[in-house]
Amino acid sequence: MKRRGELFSLRMHASIGEAHLCGAERIVAKDEIPGMLVAMTERALSHKGGEPTSISIGADRLDSRRIRKIPLLPVRTLEKAGPREAAMEVSRLLRESGISDEAVDRAFEDLTRGAAPSGGNMRGAMLIDVRSGRRLEPDRERGVRVTRMDLTEEARGKLEDRLRQRGIYHPRVMEASVLASKAAAVPGIVAEFCCSDDPDYTTGYVASRTLGYRRITRIKEPGDPFGGRAFFVDDSASIEAVIRELESIPYLVTEVPGV
Ligand code: AMP
Repeated sequence: MKRRGELFSLRMHASIGEAHLCGAERIVAKDEIPGMLVAMTERALSHKGGEPTSISIGADRLDSRRIRKIPLLPVRTLEKAGPREAAMEVSRLLRESGISDEAVDRAFEDLTRGAAPSGGNMRGAMLIDVRSGRRLEPDRERGVRVTRMDLTEEARGKLEDRLRQRGIYHPRVMEASVLASKAAAVPGIVAEFCCSDDPDYTTGYVASRTLGYRRITRIKEPGDPFGGRAFFVDDSASIEAVIRELESIPYLVTEVPGV
């Protein structure tokens, strides 16, 4: 690993008024912080969703003993003809992972009509009980935000090269595969389903330790502004422990074995 010395978690969040615009997450060495602050600010200022009225960037030094090192989930792409076929594949994969019909239906119903009680998209993810299908996150408007994850520089270079070789490179794939690899490694999380809320990005995914990261194309029609994330949680898990792990324990992807 190229990184030396202390590592810091950097998090950016930009909004327009009350509405979330974009965010970014990195774990970097101290001397990389200034360059990364510039890159994060530029990302917020050039976002196609509009001009931010607020940009917040936070940096926290990490206790290196608490950083969990994990491999990236293997990445596969399943080409689907359209949303109906894609939804059938998502249901099949989730049911095969031991998730009940109620829980699968809850995820679909909420994601396709805006999972926040106000009717819009959530900023974070839903937590859904694998058996009962009940929503478990304490704040349904915000959801649970997965933060403090990144790749080592070496793993980042390798992942980017391999995704480019396979013609599936997209910054979203880089970011989402890291997020999904962290979530899959969290005890109590059985699987994840994600559909972007970007109207132009129609590839979703299902991920778990056993399935890996399965990209599923044409999960929604172009122009559809709805999206979201659902983590299916084992009914014996402590919800507080799952949330603590997702939101505050740093995870670093050190290997990209199956890409
Ligand atoms: P995106 O793939 O960035 O379009 O995000 C899709 C959905 O996932 C968003 O509508 C949010 O509900 C949720 N989401 C985005 N970022 C995170 C995160 N860091 N942690 C948990 N959920 C997120």
